[in-house]
Amino acid sequence: MARRARPSVIAYAWAAPVSLLGLAAGALTLITGGAVDRRSGVLEFRGAFSRALLESRFVAARAMALGHVILGRDQDSLDACRDHERAHVRQAEILGPLFVPAYLAAGAWAAIRHRDRYRANWFERDAERRARRSAGMDRRQTTAAANAVTELTTAPTSTLRGRNRNRTS
Ligand SMILES: [Zn+2]
Repeated sequence: MARRARPSVIAYAWAAPVSLLGLAAGALTLITGGAVDRRSGVLEFRGAFSRALLESRFVAARAMALGHVILGRDQDSLDACRDHERAHVRQAEILGPLFVPAYLAAGAWAAIRHRDRYRANWFERDAERRARRSAGMDRRQTTAAANAVTELTTAPTSTLRGRNRNRTS
């Protein structure tokens, strides 16, 4: 997992109106028996209310980001979706209070063109691009680390190299 820089005070302040929505959902999650963790300056809530919200047909997602808050159905969902949701955190840091209206407008624009409100939404496509890029960076870092280990090890070198090659292909 790539190490992420913590958001700046300005980023927190600008995205705060969106984060407040996330915190409201987060508070409901804790009240109903869910859990929370802090990871690289972002609160990640899971279970209980978050799960019910994400499983509802209005959302129908494994996870979602609202400013510096990420809601997940469970820990697995948070782990699987983190790169994607982090991209939404970044979008909220750029657009601040405009994020939610802009996201909804992009969904409406997709619907007007008879495309999927979610998949064709510019924000989702941007998040996918960023997530893929970040996953690529993780893979390169893992490979570089594994190569360093390979160079230090003498006996099982060939197996490690073999595994590396598979991973990068
Ligand atoms: Zn998304």
